[in-house]
Amino acid sequence: MIRECCVCHRVEQKGKWHADLIFGRHERLSHGYCPDCYDDLMVNIEEFSAIFTRKVLSTASRTNAEG
Ligand SMILES: [Zn+2]
Repeated sequence: MIRECCVCHRVEQKGKWHADLIFGRHERLSHGYCPDCYDDLMVNIEEFSAIFTRKVLSTASRTNAEG
């Protein structure tokens, strides 16, 4: 089983991620995230959830004031 990063399409081999690794068509591919893209993803999720939480909280407080 070969792991390919679904963001940058690098392929993992023996714990290292290669941009230009050739692999056979018969190999089974498993899609995931390489450590670099995983970190980027986590940062984005944190930023997104921070924005989302602020939005929900401000909407909730406005609703309470009107109600
Ligand atoms: Zn990647």
